[in-house]
Amino acid sequence: MTVTVRFAPSPTGFLHIGNARPALMNWLFALREGGRFILRYDDTDRERSTQAFADAIAGDLDWLGIRPHESFRQSERIALYDAAAARLKAAGLLYACYETADELERRRARARALGRPPVYDRAGLKLTDADRAKLEAEGRVAHWRFLLPNFETDPFETRRTEVSWDDLCRGAQSVDLASLSDPVLIREDGTYLYTLPSIVDDIAAGVSHVIRGEDHVANTAVQIAIFQALEATPPVFAHHNLLTTVSGEGLSKRKGALSLRSLKEEGVEPMAVASLAVLTGTSHAIEPAESLAALAGMIELADVSRSSAKFDPSDLRPLNARLVHALAFDAVAERLAELGVGGGAAFWLAVRENCEIVADAARWWKAVDAPARVAPDAGDADYLALAARTLPHEPWDETTWGAWTAALKAESGRKGKALFLPLRKALTGEDHGPDMKRLLPLIGRCNSVARLS
Ligand code: GLU
Repeated sequence: MTVTVRFAPSPTGFLHIGNARPALMNWLFALREGGRFILRYDDTDRERSTQAFADAIAGDLDWLGIRPHESFRQSERIALYDAAAARLKAAGLLYACYETADELERRRARARALGRPPVYDRAGLKLTDADRAKLEAEGRVAHWRFLLPNFETDPFETRRTEVSWDDLCRGAQSVDLASLSDPVLIREDGTYLYTLPSIVDDIAAGVSHVIRGEDHVANTAVQIAIFQALEATPPVFAHHNLLTTVSGEGLSKRKGALSLRSLKEEGVEPMAVASLAVLTGTSHAIEPAESLAALAGMIELADVSRSSAKFDPSDLRPLNARLVHALAFDAVAERLAELGVGGGAAFWLAVRENCEIVADAARWWKAVDAPARVAPDAGDADYLALAARTLPHEPWDETTWGAWTAALKAESGRKGKALFLPLRKALTGEDHGPDMKRLLPLIGRCNSVARLS
């Protein structure tokens, strides 16, 4: 069996870090198993779905390093859903109901008041053709419910019917279908709720593993029953915990700030986002993985914890810094060029540990290339003139700074801060920064003389 997974966002907004979790859980699983990854746009909500959001989703996944093997949109596949619905109707498993939302709410309230579970009573199933014609003549339009297989022969005599699955994140799961209402699959306006199209697509695409957030656990028992009604083998399921902020709130309120686009704009590395989005709420410590392949090797679905996946957005910055400190020149060369940063690999290796984001390199490039002139403190002018006279001859390397400052120490009698700080300020325009022994050869003798004078 070829492992096939899918990530199925609705193109009604930008992806945020919370969506990165299921996307990556699927992608990493496919990487580990040598499987295929499908990007499915759940765009049956025509009013809220847009092409611009679909394009943005593809772009954001690409930024994360996710390259789908295939992608399609549900809005192009309505005929398939119609065929499946017709099949269920013909089998008597999809039946028309006419209650309004208000009527249903009143019934649920009454059931609750009587201490009964608020399960739909299958009134629609009792309607005769004549009843339906009458209701329709009154202007009512049907919505359609799937008849759950929770009875032996009489649908009004439900009995305990356990649907079980071995969840790759949560272990053995079991839901009693008798505790559920028959799910609405088709709305009054003829549009499909998510449930049936998802199953039809999973069957058609040969999806072997459905990996998604635990907010879908309740759907799974129902979906397994529908897979079986369509004579298909249900896929393997895995429901991971959802990313929430430390206070436990979902990410919806912070979506803007934590959208993948804004994180990218802030200079956060995709692997910092991926590491946090995946490792939070697992048995693995949160640390920056250098590649998706490395991340895939760090955890498996069974390592996802049963409790929530709380994270602090302010952890992203230090995680990013750790990642940036170890980035090879090749990984950043293009971006440095775009920032107007020169100096090649030697410069990057000299400054990367002083960068929280790659763009911080621009500040240190300015310090090397064209620093702001800092007027020397009173009393330092003579010292700087001495420093200029004492500069060794080129060629310079990483030993030059040590040799030069040792000589200056002996000549001037200065030590510590008084010895080093005036030099750093004059040479770089900064009072702190990367190791001077690495910056000095990049600045060069000619510039150094000019800046010290
Ligand atoms: N469009 C659904 C969602 O975003 C997909 C759920 C699923 O993976 O089955 O919640």
